[in-house]
Amino acid sequence: QGIDVGIGIDDGLSRRIDTSKAHPARVYDVFLGGKDNYPVDREAAAKSLAVNPRGYLDIRHNRAFLRRAVAHLAREEGIRQFLDIGTGLPTRENVHQVAQRVAPESRVVYVDNDPSVLVHARALLVSTPQGATHYIDADLRDPARILEEAAGTLDLDRPVGLVLAAILHFIEDDEAYGVVRELVGALPPGSHLVLSHLTADLNPERIGKVARIMRERGVSFVLRPREAVLRFLTGNGLEAAEPGLVPVHRWRPDPTADVDRIGGPHADEETAPPEGTDVLDRTRYLDIGDATDEDISIYAVVARKP
Ligand code: SAH
Repeated sequence: QGIDVGIGIDDGLSRRIDTSKAHPARVYDVFLGGKDNYPVDREAAAKSLAVNPRGYLDIRHNRAFLRRAVAHLAREEGIRQFLDIGTGLPTRENVHQVAQRVAPESRVVYVDNDPSVLVHARALLVSTPQGATHYIDADLRDPARILEEAAGTLDLDRPVGLVLAAILHFIEDDEAYGVVRELVGALPPGSHLVLSHLTADLNPERIGKVARIMRERGVSFVLRPREAVLRFLTGNGLEAAEPGLVPVHRWRPDPTADVDRIGGPHADEETAPPEGTDVLDRTRYLDIGDATDEDISIYAVVARKP
């Protein structure tokens, strides 16, 4: 698969793309029904689906939660600036699209350490003329750099929506808490944290098997229990909004949002897959409306800095 971006916005990033091993953003893209992935990513996704056949529901629901949480902050809390760390590959609805639909002047800084994400983000995540989007090639474990560069686009004296969706489970314990403390500490009162996180609390057997498959491919999940996820809030004096920390499909579900039901980037596809469509391509046509607690291994929460 070629990466089709104009010369000048690539900055040598595509040369850094490693197609020899599965990458989280690209495996995630497979489950969203995207096309920005490679055979190694599809192999990892297929092995995961073999042990957890409805595993794509975690990812689709996580993405739907992210949209609901951003819409909530934009509409109900008046948040006009977002710092989205661990952006993932662009999909049908990204943070700036959701925020700028509510308020076109919204400003969004995207951060990721995967060159595939940055190449596509620069090409596709284009702001409204009234607002702004910016992309930072950085690691979550370097919060000082992220804050410094984000300050070029965001006013860090005004409330920020910090988005850490499905990323902290890639960071080992001691480091994860320090990183979140530094980020939250730099934001003013009225800022919010949007957090989602893999756990073994809900469906330990299935997610345990998936974690093993990913670990064999060089991607480790830190499956934190509820108390350890809550510590990201309590340790920083953050107050959870209703309904608190819940399985991701239970965070303010909105059955009227049709994008939630379709989920993927290719919602214009036919509603039924053609005969002979393989198991991964079928994920492009799947509906997320029927997830149950037995399908989900991700916690979600939105919390406010008082
Ligand atoms: N936040 C999106 C995508 C989650 S996939 C969503 O919830 O839908 C996780 C993303 O985090 C991937 O794009 C991966 O490249 C990125 N990521 C993982 N570890 C990272 C790190 N240490 N620093 C920056 N980005 C990281």
